Amino acid sequence: MKIAFFEIQGWEKKLLKKAFKGHTLEFLSEPLNKENVDQFKDFDVISVFIYSELEKVVLAKLKKLKMISTRSTGYDHIDIEECRKRKIAVSNVPFYGENTVAEHTFALILSLSRNVHKSYVRGLRNNFSIEGLKGFDLNGKTIGVVGGGHIGMHVIRMAKGFGMEVFVYDIQKNKFLSEVLDFQYVELEELYKKSDIISLHVPHNKSTHHMINEKAFSKMKDGVILINTSRGEIVDTDALIEALDSGKIRGAGLDVLEGEELICEEKELLYEKANDEALREIVRDRILLSKDNVVFTPHIAFYSEEALLRIIETTIDNIQSYIAGNDQMNSL
Ligand code: NAD
Repeated sequence: MKIAFFEIQGWEKKLLKKAFKGHTLEFLSEPLNKENVDQFKDFDVISVFIYSELEKVVLAKLKKLKMISTRSTGYDHIDIEECRKRKIAVSNVPFYGENTVAEHTFALILSLSRNVHKSYVRGLRNNFSIEGLKGFDLNGKTIGVVGGGHIGMHVIRMAKGFGMEVFVYDIQKNKFLSEVLDFQYVELEELYKKSDIISLHVPHNKSTHHMINEKAFSKMKDGVILINTSRGEIVDTDALIEALDSGKIRGAGLDVLEGEELICEEKELLYEKANDEALREIVRDRILLSKDNVVFTPHIAFYSEEALLRIIETTIDNIQSYIAGNDQMNSL
């Protein structure tokens, strides 16, 4: 088989070469996109991370493609409907880092609740004043978890460890876990009204696109903290900037941003693909990141040593199962 791996790092290459001896392999550090797809016309399998754009026009060029293995949980970068039509098998990595992403969620929460980011910047400037750095305890506060799936459940477990009250909104309910972990399912409106901290753990799809918009902010408690480690597009960035400016929300911890892929390609955009919407997106993100009550990390919630190893091991299993013709892979 001809297998191409995109967005790959050196240490991963070593493991993949060992696992797929006898196959024709291609490794690229960059994503698959409209510009480079022509070189992979006759490949059978491709493996990507989230910055590859597997939209219809790209898939159309991959005439022999039989399988896509994404090394992520989310798959909103792949046109799944088109894959179904063409009978292209698609697999993901459903369980590599629930605790990893949940731990990062608390890194963002604690950074904001105890002003770690502001203290760090002051320290770099030899400023050791504590003025304006008073934080608040998590113990006794209420956290609203939007999406109580694999990651959400770990966030709930950790929140209970901090002594927090937990409300959860999800379209599916797990009564057993709500009793064991001692949390309550509520409607979205109630979660907005009662939470001191709101953390997003739903996938990005039509129903969650801009779920956190002007109307949603207006229903939230004054001084709420918003945490997004899920997908940038779940939050309407204009509404978030407005809510931060008006003081409606106290701070935001963001591992993901709308248009984050544009920030990665900023320099290229300047010379090549710049269009009004892309430039507007970049300016919006710049405004957001310049605020001292916004803590931003560049989509690294999943990025721990242990999680990366689990991702590559599951990807190897997925592709090997597909090649062996059994149904053990994590199909979408
Ligand atoms: P999951 O599928 O286990 O859980 C998602 C939960 O959201 C499910 O319980 C589902 O019922 C619920 N849900 C779906 N649509 C909903 C809606 N409209 N309203 C309310 N609830 C809804 O997924 P997970 O493993 O917990 O991951 C959640 C998301 O986190 C992923 O989709 C991905 O986008 C993101 N993620 C980010 C990183 C990162 O590095 N920042 C890493 C992994 C995953």
